[in-house]
Amino acid sequence: MAQGQPIYEARIPIHPRSVKGRFRNLKTGILLLAYGVFFGLPWLRWDRDYGPSQAVLFDIPNRQFFLFDLVVYAQDIFWLAGFLVVAALLLFFVTGVLGRVFCGYFCFQTLWTDVFMYLERKIQGERPARLRLSKQPWNVEKLWKLGATHLSWLLVAFATGLGFVLYWADAPTLARDFFSGDARFAAYVTAGLLTATTYTFAGLAREQVCTFICPYARFQSVMFDRDTLIVSYDQNRGEGSAGRAKVKAGLKTREERQAAGVGDCIDCGYCVQVCPTGIDIRDGLQVSCIHCALCIDACDTIMDKQGWPRGLIGYSSERELEGGKTRWLKGKTLGYGAAVLVVVGALVFSILERPPVDVNVNQVRQPLFVQMSDGRVQNSYELRLNNVSDQELDFTLDIDGLEGATLDLGQVEQIRLEPGQRLTVLARIRHDVEAGADSPLRFYFVIRDREGRIDPVEADARFSHR
Ligand code: SF4
Ligand code: SF4
Repeated sequence: MAQGQPIYEARIPIHPRSVKGRFRNLKTGILLLAYGVFFGLPWLRWDRDYGPSQAVLFDIPNRQFFLFDLVVYAQDIFWLAGFLVVAALLLFFVTGVLGRVFCGYFCFQTLWTDVFMYLERKIQGERPARLRLSKQPWNVEKLWKLGATHLSWLLVAFATGLGFVLYWADAPTLARDFFSGDARFAAYVTAGLLTATTYTFAGLAREQVCTFICPYARFQSVMFDRDTLIVSYDQNRGEGSAGRAKVKAGLKTREERQAAGVGDCIDCGYCVQVCPTGIDIRDGLQVSCIHCALCIDACDTIMDKQGWPRGLIGYSSERELEGGKTRWLKGKTLGYGAAVLVVVGALVFSILERPPVDVNVNQVRQPLFVQMSDGRVQNSYELRLNNVSDQELDFTLDIDGLEGATLDLGQVEQIRLEPGQRLTVLARIRHDVEAGADSPLRFYFVIRDREGRIDPVEADARFSHR
């Protein structure tokens, strides 16, 4: 941040000009894909042996998250931790190499602001028309244009809120219930909150979110190094020895300008006018720059018109700007890359190797053990079983590692669980403990399917006798 820049300042409305070019096309493609995924996924049906027919569904009441063929249960929460670690490492890795590419192309704030700006442009016109409208006194034209703009923003914000809510229940049913007033209260509250925040962030606050609210913008500089790709202005080429100058008599051709020591920047201001955060990239790397690359498209358009080479503004690294060559392979990059691969590998392995039955053993601790009249010792356990496979299973429960001990399941004779079904079983173990034996003794509960459709699952446990 520049010296003396305030932590917060009142927002000066920015009216970016539209631009055409390869980065604009890339951003539009990513935007359409992201919107297609976000709004379309809840409606995608999925053929499962059991469970809902929705491809992606976060079923909170039953504590099950359906992600295509994967069903995630509450006890798999460590996968979420792994996923967050991957996301953090990936952020460090990508930012170190490609700078704020996430901000410029993929961030929700950027994607939604882009759409809000598109609507604003369609209703109010291009930048000059919007500037004129903002300055003119209130009249019918201003009223209806601003009203229509805000209404369109609210509609998109509401669609976003509703789109989010549809992930948490059967989408067609919830959509019908939502509009007939029969949905749960939480659905209305969540959709309302999302509508309000989307409207505020993408419509009213816009670049203020990136500059003053988003923590990533603040700490990204520590991830940058001299080889990080940044959107930058080629100062040497643009300014020459005598600075930038507009095209005028005697400074029209490149040759004339070079002879006068003037650079290639014709000071047209197009790069500033298209910037969604309202900054001038010619002032150097700034915390407000979200690396959207629209100023590259703008300047390329000008260079094309002049018949001069593109690249006055472009992706470059600090090292390259100083005349060196960008080093892609560095210890830091390789380290982050390797860490991402290791955590992703561990996560995939954990998902693929998940046992079909989740067993949670809790030893009853009050009392920890009971000395019986026949000399044996009794321990009690609460076993929580969850069938996480996609088929009905019929279990037997045994113990292994306590020679001569007996297992008592009370009235439970059969443990049959539907896919996704949970059951808590109270198990008592009575054991004639040898004198001098350690306490606690280690053993295993062994769960087998009667029909042998799954490999036996073992759960570690302890037997206490003193
Ligand atoms: S300076 Fe360029 S890359 Fe940075 S935010 Fe503005 S238009 Fe986007
Ligand atoms: S668009 Fe290019 S030529 Fe125009 S002011 Fe920006 S850097 Fe200079």
